[in-house]
Amino acid sequence: MHIRSLLFCLAMLMIVGLASANERQQAAIDLSPQTALTAGKYANYFQEYATPLSLQQAIQHFDNNPLNMGSGESLSLGITVAPVWLKVKLNNANNPQLFYRFSVETPWLDYIDAWLVHDDDVINYIKGGDAFAYEDRPMQYRYFAFESALPEGESYLYMRVETLGPMAIPLHISEVNRATQRDISSGYQYGFLYGIMVALAIYNLIIYFSIKHKEYGLYALYLLGFVINSLSYTGQLHTWITPNWGPYFQDWLDISLMITYSIAGLHFARVLLNTKQYAPVLDKFTVSVTLFIPLGMLVSAVFNQLTIALVLAFLLNSSFAILFVVLGYKALTFKVPAAKLFLICSVTAASCICISTAAVWGLVPYNEITFKLIEIGVAFEAIFLAFLLAQRFRLAEVEKRIAQRSARQDVLTGLNNRLGFEHLAHPIWHQHVRSKRNISLIIIDIDHFKNINDDYGHSVGDEVLRSVAALLEYSNRRGDIAARWGGEEFLLLLPDTDEIHAYQHAERLRILIEQAKIAIDENEESGESNIQFTASFGVCGTRNGKFNGTSLTFESLEAMINKADKALYEVKSSGRNRVQAASAA
Ligand code: GH3
Ligand code: MG
Ligand code: MG
Repeated sequence: MHIRSLLFCLAMLMIVGLASANERQQAAIDLSPQTALTAGKYANYFQEYATPLSLQQAIQHFDNNPLNMGSGESLSLGITVAPVWLKVKLNNANNPQLFYRFSVETPWLDYIDAWLVHDDDVINYIKGGDAFAYEDRPMQYRYFAFESALPEGESYLYMRVETLGPMAIPLHISEVNRATQRDISSGYQYGFLYGIMVALAIYNLIIYFSIKHKEYGLYALYLLGFVINSLSYTGQLHTWITPNWGPYFQDWLDISLMITYSIAGLHFARVLLNTKQYAPVLDKFTVSVTLFIPLGMLVSAVFNQLTIALVLAFLLNSSFAILFVVLGYKALTFKVPAAKLFLICSVTAASCICISTAAVWGLVPYNEITFKLIEIGVAFEAIFLAFLLAQRFRLAEVEKRIAQRSARQDVLTGLNNRLGFEHLAHPIWHQHVRSKRNISLIIIDIDHFKNINDDYGHSVGDEVLRSVAALLEYSNRRGDIAARWGGEEFLLLLPDTDEIHAYQHAERLRILIEQAKIAIDENEESGESNIQFTASFGVCGTRNGKFNGTSLTFESLEAMINKADKALYEVKSSGRNRVQAASAA
């Protein structure tokens, strides 16, 4: 039973194997008005390892040797490889008047020769590639492309591709109207993507120029660098701005732009995550990567070694993707607030970059999606990083407010300091000046405070200050403002209170302070376990809305404080633990 089913499985496998072997025979492309396809899986190819072949020699090679079949949408054979010959069989049943566009949609291929052969005659020969000046190319287009009609029956397309960079040959064959439609929609897609990224970049540049925080500027550079890089390696920049800048210009520009955005990206990550503070070694390594690889490329440029520069550029780009993740991970282990989101972004983008790069190298299928994945990934990342920067902006705002607050606060007691008092008291004072309402002040000074420090220590003194502050806050009505005015001196501002009521309030406070007890470590000699203390009070305020018999003015706040201080001085010089009103002095 077992053996039988095993045999059955084997037989099935053989049938499937035979069937797929049959399918490996080169299929013809049937041309029609609907044609719009990538010819990868219709193509036979071989690589020209020895001397360059003529078309006749190549045809012989195709006829007499076992054939390599394309699979997937594009042929991708890796970086800096030998020239490639392609052969595609075309079948035109009944549309000899229709034109078709043949395009190889990677813009960096150096030399491309194409022949259309019908009945052993070459009916069309076209040469191009980015080593040719723009006006010498068969079509004024960002890719190598030409358009041709085909006679009825079978024809062959032969193509020879020679290039230094990645050998990715996504050959598209489309009826001309279809090709135009594809161009238009691709234009919109790129426009949408670039629009988002450029808008984000400009926005962050504006933030950078207004608050001068490096991360915003680096982020903007990263985005702009990426957009220009993408414009360059999709051939759009050259179509648009630099069409006639000569052979190899595009190759060098592509790799320079490729590393520019990587460098900006890495420095952005360092600054955003503050790597220097907790991972100095990783930080230094990152800086070295962004320094030495470009330096190596510069040397290669001087000696015109494009291949070495190309390998270095790919090395920097891969380091960029890897370091982005490592930096994020390191930040996460040090609990940097931005780390989690950053890691999500960087892992996503790195995966997309890896897939796209692998597609160009021929390690994973090269198609429209894998080729564009890098843009999709980086756009995703860009948006989420913008979110991170916004969060950071908010955090900075909160920190600023906390800093402002603490600048106005007394550290020991938590009450307002002088600055805080002024900040709060001035607007209230102005209201009272305008509305001619009553307002009063109380100055409080702890009696013989120096002795408390001397007898029980500074920390007990501090405790006394804190307890007086707590007591003031506790007995404050809403709108009253308490401040620590000096060492053991406090100030109270009482809105809508005349001097008589302020006096009564001070008297209540005086009693509360007198009754308060502060626990101390038990004194062995006296057996005391808590201490008591008193305070003296100077009060000054308006009566019937008038201060000194005249209306309140903006300047009278200071005068009122001086008068309260004088009243306090009188208490101090005539004993202590008493309230004195200024008008009674
Ligand atoms: P008087 O009754 O006349 O006000 O006498 P006094 O001892 O309270 O006043 P004096 O101005 O002579 O001494 C105030 C002391 O307060 C001197 C200073 O060391 C102390 N002091 C000031 N700030 C602080 C503080 O923050 N903590 C503590 N523990 N002591 C402080
Ligand atoms: Mg005192
Ligand atoms: Mg004092």
